[in-house]
Amino acid sequence: MLPAERGPGVRYTIPMTNGVHTQFSTRPLLQRYDLAVVGGGIVGLATAREFLARQPNLRVVVLEKEPTIASHQSGHNSGVIHTGIYYTPGSLKAQACVAGHRAMLDFCQERGIPFERCGKVIVALDETELPRLEALYQRGIANGVQGLEMIDPPRLREIEPYAAGIKAIYSPNTGITDFARVAQAYAEDVLQHGGEIVTGCEVGAIRQGQTAVLALRGTASAQGWQQEIQARFVITCGGLHSDRLARMTCRTTDVQIVPFRGDYYVLRPEKRHMVHALIYPVPDPQFPFLGVHFTRLLNGEVWAGPNAVLAFAREGYRRTDLDLRALWEVLRFSGFWKLARKYWRVGVQEMVRDYVKSAYVRTLQRYLPELRADDLLPGPSGVRAQALASDGRLVDDFLIVHDQNVVHVQNAPSPAATSSLVIARMIVDEAQRAFT
Ligand SMILES: Cc1cc2nc3c(=O)[nH]c(=O)nc-3n(C[C@H](O)[C@H](O)[C@H](O)COP(=O)(O)OP(=O)(O)OC[C@H]3O[C@@H](n4cnc5c(N)ncnc54)[C@H](O)[C@@H]3O)c2cc1C
Repeated sequence: MLPAERGPGVRYTIPMTNGVHTQFSTRPLLQRYDLAVVGGGIVGLATAREFLARQPNLRVVVLEKEPTIASHQSGHNSGVIHTGIYYTPGSLKAQACVAGHRAMLDFCQERGIPFERCGKVIVALDETELPRLEALYQRGIANGVQGLEMIDPPRLREIEPYAAGIKAIYSPNTGITDFARVAQAYAEDVLQHGGEIVTGCEVGAIRQGQTAVLALRGTASAQGWQQEIQARFVITCGGLHSDRLARMTCRTTDVQIVPFRGDYYVLRPEKRHMVHALIYPVPDPQFPFLGVHFTRLLNGEVWAGPNAVLAFAREGYRRTDLDLRALWEVLRFSGFWKLARKYWRVGVQEMVRDYVKSAYVRTLQRYLPELRADDLLPGPSGVRAQALASDGRLVDDFLIVHDQNVVHVQNAPSPAATSSLVIARMIVDEAQRAFT
């Protein structure tokens, strides 16, 4: 028996981040679709939007297990519109980020979504970091990033008066926005073009055939509901669950998601003047996602972080969150132990910083020497989906694979939010190749 307010075909309104109400479905309205997109994060929504823009007559549904869209990575991030400095020339990340940065600024402008081209400095603290800084600058130039400058300490102090550093890259076009708002705008486009978004609806299985069958389960009410729908084509964009979704059709996948929690601190309001925009470290090429930074948000708040420690649940935003299935998946994966054996020192350092505030503060003080522990308040957390191969290699690039009529986005880490409009084009190109 279905709860009365959650019967098939019922549409309901849900308040979004900006207070606007958007209409989603509580259960799929149809039995058969042309395309089902699994995952209502920024990548899934951008993909559904792109598909509908190319083929407006298709029946498209987005299936999201949470009560609303952008509940995980897309709603828990730094909000930085990256320019594409970091990524290996020719990689999908480099292509998608450079083009995605421009596309994101234009999209925000057109849709009235607040954003700011605030600029960013990447700071070398001592001589040992200079070769990596120089290599990074050359990489940015090779990727076609506009406006990059190598700057000396007086210019750094003009831009960020409180920052330490002996040399820096200045990227004036790096921006900031709210990616949950962007995801909401994508969702509005999907609905406007006749697509459907179902929330509180988890995909538990995908059976491949000429038409795929998706087994769905309602997650939004205590009673739940179960239903199967058919789709000619399926695209999964499951973020922290992308490996589980991929395994529903590809038994041989070599990639496992390892969740890494990142906690932020927030600067006390009276200390916000210490950071004008974005202050970043020179990344370690082996761990490009490590390295705390300072980010000034659109609302004026300044966040410091995030760090990166193994999370014991896929969506483990708190230290105490534990999901035995998720932990077991990590512990029995050979790739995790290969990575741990090689880099256990880095892991231990991150854990110490996680539990000992003074250790975290010492790292931040290297960039802002006048910062004091009292200036920092506990802030929000995010969990990154880090894809790991069974040989212990961190999968760096975006990874999109297809298997007959199903396309899986297996790895879409940062800068996937920045690049979402362009990744969506890549995914739909891949899907159109696979589906014809
Ligand atoms: C701490 C942090 C900081 C970051 N900072 C930046 C930044 O500054 N700039 C940037 O460009 N990127 C940044 N990123 C990366 C960016 O947020 C992600 O790359 C992007 O949000 C990925 O989007 P997604 O749609 O693939 O995943 P998600 O947003 O995680 O969405 C996946 C969705 O799939 C749903 N789902 C999963 N399984 C199922 C299922 N079985 N059935 C139904 N639904 C399912 C989930 O509930 C989820 O809503 C950051 C990420 C983190 C964690």
